[in-house]
Amino acid sequence: MIESLKYPTGEWPELKQGWVWLCGAGPGDAGLLTLHAVNAMKQADVIVFDALVQQEILDWARPDCEKIYAGKRGGKPSAKQRDISLHLVELAQEGKRVLRLKGGDPFVFGRGGEEAQTLVQHGIPVRIIPGISAGIGGLAYAGVPVTHRDVNQSVTFVTGHDQTGNTPSALDWSAISRGSQVIVVYMGMKHIGRISKALRDAGRPDDEPVAVVSEATTPNQRVLETTLATAEADIETSGMAAPAMICIGRSVLMRQVLDWQGQANGELPRDLDPLGRGKPAEQ
Ligand code: SAH
Repeated sequence: MIESLKYPTGEWPELKQGWVWLCGAGPGDAGLLTLHAVNAMKQADVIVFDALVQQEILDWARPDCEKIYAGKRGGKPSAKQRDISLHLVELAQEGKRVLRLKGGDPFVFGRGGEEAQTLVQHGIPVRIIPGISAGIGGLAYAGVPVTHRDVNQSVTFVTGHDQTGNTPSALDWSAISRGSQVIVVYMGMKHIGRISKALRDAGRPDDEPVAVVSEATTPNQRVLETTLATAEADIETSGMAAPAMICIGRSVLMRQVLDWQGQANGELPRDLDPLGRGKPAEQ
């Protein structure tokens, strides 16, 4: 596929021996990979991938490509992170063309910065290939725009837990609550009860819309619409589990008109004007 597309400024970049390309694989749907990612997969001698990378995507690698799983799940203390980074260093020093493939975007809650830093510290040349992050693309597949002119002029991306597995102590939920109309939570399923309480204690309304999107962009995608007060119980009842994005804010209402996957399956929009603007915006 990639060969038939001319790279605008000449040749597609070459993944050279001894280099590591740190690449985002997007949230799941193989169609959301970038062309740079596909170009990398066609060249790599070895791909080191994490748990969120869909197996089907790996089928695009060269048949003789070595595939190494380096997944971590569930916010456990990652003594292994150092091992992964050093393994990348070793592979590069062996003269391999190394592709480090990570879910979503490598620099969004993916520890890609740390891996790249270790590589650079060891003198390994790197290229960074961004990917579509689940907090943007995953929500878009659920029909939720992360910004919408009538709703928010800012959006805050937060992680629901830190290295210790707790809600991050550095997060000032009260400030976030006041400062951002829309809050997008990665890794938030375990602590949704605490998070929603903290936001309500800080003044966010009980009935504020919340969307939970699990396994976004994959055939197993599920979407739950709930509210801040009912999110924890509704998630529990639904049986939904990680990986999931949680979006808190009124942009979730736009799903009533923008659930394009539901519409593709024959459902009608529930409300053509969920934010009550009246006629369609003219500008
Ligand atoms: N670098 C990734 C995020 C890694 S942190 C990115 O940019 O998307 C892992 C968290 O990402 C998960 O716990 C979940 O909150 C979110 N996530 C990643 N892929 C997802 C998917 N397909 N559906 C829903 N959430 C996803």
